[in-house]
Amino acid sequence: MKGGDRVLENHTEALVRDVLKEYRMKETICECPRCEEDIVAMVLNQLPPKYFLSDAEEGDKIAYQLNQRLRFEALIKITEAANQVMERNHPASG
Ligand SMILES: [Zn+2]
Repeated sequence: MKGGDRVLENHTEALVRDVLKEYRMKETICECPRCEEDIVAMVLNQLPPKYFLSDAEEGDKIAYQLNQRLRFEALIKITEAANQVMERNHPASG
């Protein structure tokens, strides 16, 4: 039997991390690992996951990652999440 080594990959996480990287180049947000993981988790819980089997066409995976509508949606959620996460992790002192 072949196919036992095919695994499911959630490509929404890769998309969100990529958009977050771009966002950080334009905006000053906290870059500590705690904030990064909190932001990614919060955004992933709001976006529908997109699964590919590991042997799916690379072109299909890339087309998903570069989908402008999804990237824009992720960017909006990242902006909201970044504000909430930074407020929670680093409460303003005075
Ligand atoms: Zn932080």
